[in-house]
Amino acid sequence: MRPLKRFGQNFLVDPNIKRKILAAVHPGTGDRILEIGPGDGALTLELAFASRWVYAVEIDKKRCACLSSQTAGISRLTLICADILKFDLEDFLRREKVDRVRVVSNLPYYITTPVVEYLFRRIDLIDDIFLTVQREVAQRLIAKAGDPSYGSLSCFVDYYCEAAVLFAIAPACFRPKPKVDSAFIHLVPRRDRKERLCLRSSEEEFFRLIRASFGQRRKTLRASLSRLLGRTFLRRLGEDDLLERRPQTVPVQEFARLSNRIFG
Ligand code: SAM
Repeated sequence: MRPLKRFGQNFLVDPNIKRKILAAVHPGTGDRILEIGPGDGALTLELAFASRWVYAVEIDKKRCACLSSQTAGISRLTLICADILKFDLEDFLRREKVDRVRVVSNLPYYITTPVVEYLFRRIDLIDDIFLTVQREVAQRLIAKAGDPSYGSLSCFVDYYCEAAVLFAIAPACFRPKPKVDSAFIHLVPRRDRKERLCLRSSEEEFFRLIRASFGQRRKTLRASLSRLLGRTFLRRLGEDDLLERRPQTVPVQEFARLSNRIFG
């Protein structure tokens, strides 16, 4: 079967990297794992052997059928042919009587951000997340205020999770070789996320503020937020020092404080 570009199919073929990924995930006999995009099953079987159960969601019907016949004798594996972005995880886990899953994915790069957002919207169903992503995306995900790649995605990650880059993966580890370097990352949900930032406004308002602030990266917060809130409101708010800064220099704690002042 030829790899399909439209599904971002670059299959992991390096046994050493497979070993490193499995050692990092370190599946336990009680773990239930959601694997997004199992493809040819580079990680799936090992995950299924070592854990309680693997739920593998694959969009490509032909690959799904192939993997299904290869894994026919294996219990502890449920193969689901679906687009993860349309998959009702809440309903699925409720029917399976499962509280939480660990997530493992060598992500198709074209949907990295939507998948990360999908997972964050369901963060209370997730124990932890291991992802292979493009190296530049990994830098954006873990960037802190002041870093060149810091943006709204970095703020969302910092709000929801503790994030770490575990190791780099070279293009030669995949078939076909992608044009970019990759990195394997680990995200651990923060259960105290609102308390940690003393966030009193809603998460929706907080995210709206962050998105609007980074809407025009080179402009000050005042310029970017005046569209959302109006110049008069911002003048009355009196946060002059903060509003004259560019979004890349503002830590997530400061966005939370501003969100409380505006919406809290
Ligand atoms: N896990 C395999 C590996 O490591 O070799 C495959 C990785 S490949 C980069 C990404 C996989 O995700 C492909 O099998 C692709 O068909 C699947 N995929 C792409 N978009 C998807 C989606 N929206 N939902 C579920 N699977 C998807």
